[in-house]
Amino acid sequence: MIVNDRITAYIQSLDAGNGPLLDSIEEEALADCVPIIRRETSAFLKTLIALKRPQSILEVGTAVGYSALLMSRVMPENCRITTIEKYEKRIPAAREHFKMAGEEGRITLLEGDADDLLAGLKGQTFDLVFMDAAKGQYLHWLPMILELMPEGGVLISDNVLQDGDIVESRFAVERRNRTIHSRMRRYLYELKHRQGLETAIIPIGDGVAVSTKYTER
Ligand code: SAM
Repeated sequence: MIVNDRITAYIQSLDAGNGPLLDSIEEEALADCVPIIRRETSAFLKTLIALKRPQSILEVGTAVGYSALLMSRVMPENCRITTIEKYEKRIPAAREHFKMAGEEGRITLLEGDADDLLAGLKGQTFDLVFMDAAKGQYLHWLPMILELMPEGGVLISDNVLQDGDIVESRFAVERRNRTIHSRMRRYLYELKHRQGLETAIIPIGDGVAVSTKYTER
């Protein structure tokens, strides 16, 4: 936990939920140990979508479609979401959930590895990108993602503080997590130092980075 448990519990206790369908998808996902966006992060994500009013959204990491459906609740009517997932077991569940929500027309699920699929999106633009897949790949995907964003486009990267591990020395982190740890540190450094990108790192949920692309004068 990055934030005091009592503060998190209090913030969560204020949450009004997201309607019966989404609440049941969330409950089922948690019971099945499917990693989905945390409650306090989802409120932040929805607020950013409502503020930005994007016409097109790209999500990397669909899982069972929970966060895509959350976004669809607050995005403008004519906005479209493209979401990418490679885990075959989760794809039918996501499709079913999009259908149940009546959102198959506005949400397109691309099946496969983001490594291959991102390159295929070249030429399209996305006003907002939600990055929520393999944490060790964020840095590698960044140039491709930025190419897909117009000036003023927003990139939201989830789980960037790794439950607080990010501040630990490499040697204090479990050996199997060390590669992800060092890649995430490099990713955050890049987000904060790359020209033409303004980034705030917010200690909410598991840590969220919000970046905006702009032209430097
Ligand atoms: N955004 C979802 C939500 O909050 O409802 C949760 C996404 S979950 C944290 C991450 C998902 O990314 C997993 O379902 C995983 O299979 C997928 N994933 C990981 N690496 C990927 C890759 N290289 N290409 C496509 N999907 C990937």
